[in-house]
Amino acid sequence: SDHTLEYPASPSDMDWAKHYPGYVAEPTADETNSSRPRPLKQDVEIVDIGCGYGGLLVALSPILPNNLMLGLEIRSQVTAFVQERIYALRKQHGDGAYQNAACIRANSMKFLPNFFTKAQLSKIFICFPDPHFKARKHKARIVSTTLNSEYAFVLRPGGVVYTITDVEALHEWMVEHFDAHPAFERVPEDEAENDPCVAIMRAETEEGKKVARNNGLKFVALFRRREDPPW
Ligand code: SAM
Repeated sequence: SDHTLEYPASPSDMDWAKHYPGYVAEPTADETNSSRPRPLKQDVEIVDIGCGYGGLLVALSPILPNNLMLGLEIRSQVTAFVQERIYALRKQHGDGAYQNAACIRANSMKFLPNFFTKAQLSKIFICFPDPHFKARKHKARIVSTTLNSEYAFVLRPGGVVYTITDVEALHEWMVEHFDAHPAFERVPEDEAENDPCVAIMRAETEEGKKVARNNGLKFVALFRRREDPPW
């Protein structure tokens, strides 16, 4: 349950240093004596919601070497697996490789604004989310009107939500909910197909590989965060 989940009271309380040791900023004199978390040179910008075993993260890390990316995963053993996977890659490759990727245990449906400030993120990935087929389970889906407002809050204008699923009904559900949300517009399909992140999402996620082995279909949809309207 959430009682065992640790999350910061606000984004400035989050200690990112242990997750991104290669990006810890030189502390100022004040900071050296402070009990505040050690700041990073740059903020997390890319989030993989329900990252599972981390295939997307480890494939994206070398493609976007200057962006910090974070997997959020609710299962503690799966989180530990991804953390070990990233430590091993860092050690094996050295030279700063994979320092930009990390994974933490979190319930992304509840605490996103505890981790990220308004407009902090440029990309959010939602890859093969649990389908929750039954109508009474639809409230457990990680795309909904309420959650889309949270994604809109943490995404910057121009930022993109990437979705992929092998469940057509869930694809339609996600498209319907993002289309209905005033903060998002669909990215045209030809543009989406030219985005290198889409190929990675299809081919490098563990679920994407499983679906390919079973010759299943994969439905992709991208949504861009619009500018806020002038008040
Ligand atoms: N994205 C990965 C992939 O494509 O291979 C994993 C997909 S798997 C079907 C869905 C993952 O989402 C599971 O690992 C599950 O534990 C995680 N998950 C489900 N609800 C979550 C939540 N509220 N917060 C964080 N992770 C969640």
